[in-house]
Amino acid sequence: MSESALLDAFRELIEGSKRVVVFTGAGISTESGIPDFRSPGGIWTKYQPIDFGDFMASEEMRRESWRRKFGADKTISAAQPNAGHHAIASMVASGKVTSVITQNVDGLHQASGVPDDQVIELHGNATYASCLSCGAYYELEPIRDAFERDETLPTCDICSGIVKTATISFGQAMPEKEMARADAETWACDLFIAIGSSLVVYPAAGFPAAAKRAGANLVILNRDPTDQDPIADLVLNMEIGPTLSAVVE
Ligand code: ZN
Repeated sequence: MSESALLDAFRELIEGSKRVVVFTGAGISTESGIPDFRSPGGIWTKYQPIDFGDFMASEEMRRESWRRKFGADKTISAAQPNAGHHAIASMVASGKVTSVITQNVDGLHQASGVPDDQVIELHGNATYASCLSCGAYYELEPIRDAFERDETLPTCDICSGIVKTATISFGQAMPEKEMARADAETWACDLFIAIGSSLVVYPAAGFPAAAKRAGANLVILNRDPTDQDPIADLVLNMEIGPTLSAVVE
């Protein structure tokens, strides 16, 4: 199929659907300059990720975790939503897309205007911190100031619990509420669009198949082929921002 025929087919699937769910992975944010941590040369090929059990067990691991966080933060805090984020935001605003399920922790869907309650973050959010015991919300700014002064580790003002960035670490349980919402949205939709995810890592890998079992159409938009391509109704191996802009305009 030619590129324009693929775009037409994509448009038709969207127009023919009543309830669309968008699922996004790292690929959508690389166009905003955020590296894919799993890609060759990414952060995780240089550092062993800190396991949640080690984080909890050792003050030194907690210090190392905050050192890395504030070292890498300049990239994430400078990042802006790109054309792909904006196209998705306009599909949400039109009522076509009911929710955005994301593996990303950069907060760029919210920054592009998707309401907080329509973004389901499977791996948490790196733009704030929270108490692991009571869930209290903490801004990063004061934590950074104290940490950069003398490596003070943040603790909860309310319950003295351990405060950690609001991301889900390796070895940490998936967030139950978000997983349940993502499942419900996937089963209720009639079109599931997976964008910028290699769809290899669980739970990401399970959603496209669940959508198909529930009778939805499945579109996969990713620069490279994915393991789930064989079950998709339409596969687009194209750049994300330009493709979504062309379809939504
Ligand atoms: Zn607390």
